[in-house]
Amino acid sequence: MTLNEYTTAHLGRSIEKLSDRELYEALLSMIRDAAQAKTDAACPGKKKLYYISAEFLVGRLISNNLINLGIYDSVRDELAAAGRDISRLEEMEPEPSLGNGGLGRLAACFLDSIATMGLCGDGIGLNYHLGLFKQVFENNLQREMPNPWIDSPTWLTKRDISYTVRLGNLTVRSSLYDIAIIGYENRTNQLHLFDLDSVDEGIVTEGISFDKNDIEKNLTLFLYPDDSDEAGRLLRIFQQYFMVSNAAQYILDECASRGCTLHDLYDYAVIQINDTHPAMVIPELIRLLTERGIGWDEAVDIVTKTCAYTNHTILAEALEKWPVRYLKKVVPQLVPIIEILDDRVRRRFHDESLAVIDREDRVHMAHIAIHYGFSVNGVAYLHTEILKSTELNRFYRVYPEKFNNKTNGITFRRWLLHCNPLLTDWIASRIGDGFKRDARELTKLTAFLDDERALKELLAVKQQNREALKQYLRENLAIEIDAASILDVQIKRLHEYKRQQLNALCVIRKYLEIKAGRLPKCPITVIFGAKAAPAYVIARDIIHLILCLSQLVNGDAQVSPYLKVIMVENYNVTLAEKLIPACDISEQISLASKEASGTGNMKLMLNGAVTLGTLDGANVEIAQLVGMDNIYIFGETSEQVIAHYVKGDYRPGAFYEKDPVIRETVDFIVSPQMLRIGREENLRRLHGELLGRDWFMTLLDFEEYVRTRERAYEDFNDRMGWARKMLVNISHAGYFSSDRTVGEYNRDIWRL
Ligand SMILES: *Cc1c(COP(=O)(O)O)cnc(C)c1O
Repeated sequence: MTLNEYTTAHLGRSIEKLSDRELYEALLSMIRDAAQAKTDAACPGKKKLYYISAEFLVGRLISNNLINLGIYDSVRDELAAAGRDISRLEEMEPEPSLGNGGLGRLAACFLDSIATMGLCGDGIGLNYHLGLFKQVFENNLQREMPNPWIDSPTWLTKRDISYTVRLGNLTVRSSLYDIAIIGYENRTNQLHLFDLDSVDEGIVTEGISFDKNDIEKNLTLFLYPDDSDEAGRLLRIFQQYFMVSNAAQYILDECASRGCTLHDLYDYAVIQINDTHPAMVIPELIRLLTERGIGWDEAVDIVTKTCAYTNHTILAEALEKWPVRYLKKVVPQLVPIIEILDDRVRRRFHDESLAVIDREDRVHMAHIAIHYGFSVNGVAYLHTEILKSTELNRFYRVYPEKFNNKTNGITFRRWLLHCNPLLTDWIASRIGDGFKRDARELTKLTAFLDDERALKELLAVKQQNREALKQYLRENLAIEIDAASILDVQIKRLHEYKRQQLNALCVIRKYLEIKAGRLPKCPITVIFGAKAAPAYVIARDIIHLILCLSQLVNGDAQVSPYLKVIMVENYNVTLAEKLIPACDISEQISLASKEASGTGNMKLMLNGAVTLGTLDGANVEIAQLVGMDNIYIFGETSEQVIAHYVKGDYRPGAFYEKDPVIRETVDFIVSPQMLRIGREENLRRLHGELLGRDWFMTLLDFEEYVRTRERAYEDFNDRMGWARKMLVNISHAGYFSSDRTVGEYNRDIWRL
C-alpha cells in the first residue's frame, strides 16, 4: 500500500491535503500496521532469546523502519512528488534516548540484527519516561534538563499484561509497553518495556532533581538516576529488580504458553544478561521456580543452563557490588537465595575471590552471573583476553569452557544505509546491492583501490556530506564550520579513560603553534560531542575546558582561519547520524586496556573516516583488518599500561617536570587567558588532577599522540592517498556488522 492510499483510506484525504504533523502521524501508524503484519512469522526453532538490558538506545525509528520494511525510497519519492520533504517529517520525531552510550546502542543494534536474521528474540527493559538527560551549555558548563520522548502518537503499544512485583514494603502492579522491532526485509520482534502507571513526571524540579524516596512516583522516571547518595543507589536496585522480576514472570508465562514444563525451560528460553544490571534475574528465576514446586538443585541447574552474561567493562568501579544491607531493604525476598548461592560457591571452591558475598558483605553481581550462567563473553578480542588473563582470571581458571569472545558490531541499516545514502549509492554503483544483505561483500570494493575516478568520487561524496553537516549545524545549532577543513572528531560519552582531555591538550598545542606562526597546510576543525554523568566532577570540568578552549580559539582572529574547536550540545544518536558521514579523522584514544570495544570506531570507519587511536578495544581488530598504513596508532600497549598499574609507577609529575612542552601545554589550562574565560575552580581542579593523579595516564601518551596526529594531518593533504585509506577502511568494515556478531552469539551461545 502506498502512503497516499493509506492516508486516503484512513483519513479520507490525499498527501497534498495533509499538514506535516498529520503526515508524520499517518506515516507512523502505517509503519505500525506494516510491522504488525510481520509478527507471526514462524521461529526457526522452539527456543527463543530474551535480551535483558537496562538500556536500549534505539534512536529515532521512522526512517530505519521504512528502510527495513523496504519502502523508504518509495515513500520518499511519493512525498517528493507531492512537494513534501521526508526529512522534515523525520525531524519531527523525538529521539527515544533510553540509554547512555555504547552499551545501550549495542542492544539496539542487536535487536535490529536479530530480527533481520529471522531469529525469534525480544528485548526486555524499562520504559523510562524521560530519556537520558538533555544537555545544555550555560556559561561553558553542562546543565541537565529533562528529556521527554513519549509523544502522541508513539511507538509504544500498551499490552494487556501486568505482574505483581514486591519492592521493599511496597507491592506494585506493572504495565507493559511494546515497541515493534522490524527486521530488514524480515520478521518483526518486540522490545518489551515495563512500567509503573503511578510514575509522575510532575515530581521533577529544577533541572533533573526529584524526590528519590518516592518509589511509586519515580521508579521508571529516569535512566540511571544520580547514585551519588544512598537514596539514589537504592532506587537503582529498585529499578533493576522491577525490570528482572517482570522479565522472569513474562518469560516463564510465555514459555509455559508454548508448552514448556519449566523443567525444560532452557529448551524454550535463553536469557542474555547485558552487563550486570539485569543479573538479579538469576536469583529471581530461582525464587519463582522453587515457588512453583521445583526443587532447589534442579532450579539452580535450570537457571544456569538458561542464562548467559555479557561483560562490558573492566573498570572496577563499574562492576556492581551491592551491600547486603541495601538488598535487605529493596529485595528481602532475594537475600536468602543469594546467601545460598554464595554458600554453594564457598563450599565448592574455598577461594574468597570467587565468592558471591565478600567479607565486607557486598554482593558481586558479576560473580552471580558467572557462576550461575553457562556463558561469559567479552565484547572484543583484547577485552576478552584481558578478562581471561587478569580481571576474571580466577573464574577463567575454574570455568574455561564458559568464556568466549563476541566482538561488537553495528547495524549497517542505520549506520550506512540510513545515515549515509550518498555513500550507500556510491558503493552500490560499484559492487551492486548485495552488501546491503551481506556486509562481507564490501571487500569487493578493494578492486577500486587504484581506480582514480572511483577515488575522486569517494572524495566528492565525503565533501558533499561535509557540506550537509555544515548546513545542519548552522540551521540547528547556530554553529559555523569550514566544509573544506579536516574534520577531526571525538564523539562518545565523556570519561577520563576515553581521554577527551588528551585531545584538548593537543588542541592547546595547535593553538600555541599557530600563535607562534607555524600554520597548518589545511584548516582543522576539531569536533567534540559528549555528555558527562551529572555527578562526575572531573568529566564536567573537562567539558568546561573544551568549551572555554572553543571560545578562545574560535574568537581569535589570528587562529580561527586555521583551527576551530566545536563542542556540539546534546550528543545523541540523531547527531551521531549527522556527524559520522562527514568525518575525516576518528579519535579513539582511550588508555589502552580500558575501552572494552567501542562501536563509534566502527561507525566512523564504515563511513570512510580514518582512525587515530590506541591499540585498545576493537581498534586492535580494525588495525589488523586495514593494516598499519591505513590507521594511525600511538601510545603504550595494554600490557605496558597494566604493568604501570601493577607497579604503581606512573607519575604525571615526572612528565611535567622533564618535558617543557608538556609543562607549557598543561599550564595553559590555568593561564590568564583561560581564567578570563572560564571558572577558576573548575580549571584549577582539572589542572591539579592532571598533575597529581591522572589515573588514566594522559601525559604518558601525549608526545606520541601529538606526533601521530600531525602525521595524519600531513597525509590528509595527499588527497588520493587519503581516499585510498578511506576506501580500505570502508572495504574492511563488513566484519563489524552486528549481523556477524549476532550470528556468532547464535552459533555459540543461543542456538535458536
Ligand atoms: C555509538 C554511540 C556511542 C558509543 O560510542 P563509543 O565511541 O563506542 O564510546 C555513544 N553514544 C551514541 C549516541 C552512539 O551512537
